[in-house]
Amino acid sequence: MKTLDTAGAINIWKEEHSTMDVMVERPRAAQVAGMLHEREIPYAIAVGDVNLLLEREQGTVLNKLRRQSSANRKMDWHTFHRLDVIYEFMENLAKEYPYLCTVMIIGKSVEGRDLKLLKISNGDSSNPGVWLDGSIHPREWISAAVVTYIANQLVRNFQIQSESVRNKDWYILPVMNPDGYEYTHTNDRMWRKNRARYGECVGVDLNRNFSYGWGEKGEEGSSDDPGNIFFRGSKAFSEPETSAVKRLIVESPTTFKVFLSFHSYGEVIIFPWGYIGDPCPDYIELLEGGTAMAKAIFETSGHTYKVGSTKDLMYYAAGTSIDWSYGVANIPYSYMVELRGKQYRFLLPREEIIPTAREAMSGVLQLMDFVDKRSKSVQSCVYSV
Ligand SMILES: [Zn+2]
Repeated sequence: MKTLDTAGAINIWKEEHSTMDVMVERPRAAQVAGMLHEREIPYAIAVGDVNLLLEREQGTVLNKLRRQSSANRKMDWHTFHRLDVIYEFMENLAKEYPYLCTVMIIGKSVEGRDLKLLKISNGDSSNPGVWLDGSIHPREWISAAVVTYIANQLVRNFQIQSESVRNKDWYILPVMNPDGYEYTHTNDRMWRKNRARYGECVGVDLNRNFSYGWGEKGEEGSSDDPGNIFFRGSKAFSEPETSAVKRLIVESPTTFKVFLSFHSYGEVIIFPWGYIGDPCPDYIELLEGGTAMAKAIFETSGHTYKVGSTKDLMYYAAGTSIDWSYGVANIPYSYMVELRGKQYRFLLPREEIIPTAREAMSGVLQLMDFVDKRSKSVQSCVYSV
């Protein structure tokens, strides 16, 4: 598989315990089907023609998209937007609500693009921090759309949000991998890594480039081959995008309590560990927090998000952002949320952006309630002793 992947004929979309989603170029489809048949590996066609889904996703074909300028396009959640539209939306929100919002540039990408972060805060210095990010994997377009939707709703309806939402400092990075994100709009819709040059090859999987458990579990946890889509980089935090996130969190005066990284697809909420199979010390607590989110999601839309540790629900993943945020940055509620969709995979039709964002937001708000109730009950235990 890995040799074929390097050749570009096969693109791995997703790996689970016993199944794998792969995209095969049409001229190679018969050959791959023959190979699977020969080895008696059962398979089914999930998406017959990816191009049809691309059209449905954007209401246009990719070729047209390449020529399309993003000029005059305003932010909304009826379509997927380019980076400049997302950044302008963040700046405008901060201009409109200067007493709540700050836009910060926390670093630059490999190709020199800004990493723009939106902070939402009522200014109370005792607020714990909540981190939200999207598009660490750029082909997962829905993640940036969901994170910007949540930012917009939080800011515009801040006064009517519950106390558990207003008493947090929100740090929101909608596009952690801006070079890759633009590349998925201009060149290759299925690009997963950043755009760093490693010899003849391009790109590090940023969600294998964090330090905790980096490089563990050999080729199962990540790859040392720059041609592989799970390439972990030359060392932990070798990439400017991951080191900017680390710096912001480690150097911030805010104590972070929640770290949520949005991905797609699969409809699962996962937590550490990914680099080993053992449960993390707070397994039960994280399971309960994740279940509170999943319950809120189900009540909003009827979608069932599974909850469990990375290794239990997916596979070994070494050097992920949530293993680092939990294990090194000591952020107790660290989750990765794999958003919709089960049918269309990465190519979620744009009509599903708002329903996906609504269900995700209800999960996030519920988690804030859960976290506050837990810290109150812990405090009252301490006092009663
Ligand atoms: Zn992802």
